[in-house]
Amino acid sequence: MSSHHEGGCHCGASRYRITGPLQDIAHCHCSICRRVSGAPVTTWITVPASRFEWLHGVAAQYRSSASCTRYFCSGCGAQLALVTTLSPDTVDVTIGTLDQPELAIPERHIWTTTRLPWLHLDEHLPSEPEETL
Ligand SMILES: [Zn+2]
Ligand SMILES: [Zn+2]
Repeated sequence: MSSHHEGGCHCGASRYRITGPLQDIAHCHCSICRRVSGAPVTTWITVPASRFEWLHGVAAQYRSSASCTRYFCSGCGAQLALVTTLSPDTVDVTIGTLDQPELAIPERHIWTTTRLPWLHLDEHLPSEPEETL
């Protein structure tokens, strides 16, 4: 299956496109995602860098750790994507900013060592205490 999936931030300044299937999707429970987003969990799709492109708007960047740079809209603050030197050929994109997030089905949990105990979500999915690249 091959197709295009677009998304963007709330104010519309930044738009992106993913080409290809929506797969490799994980609920991330790490404390950095939590602080940066303000949400108890952030759900990411990992795509090959060659299948991700910005359509318009240059997202601002924030270096959240030595290995990780996050892209966000400087207008509305939406968290859009991240890149990590641990996996230089991929881009992670927040499924919440897809135009059709209902098409992106989560497959696993990562960083469950810092998962909030009261969060009940997709309990049947496999979990990883940190993240296995
Ligand atoms: Zn925006
Ligand atoms: Zn995270």
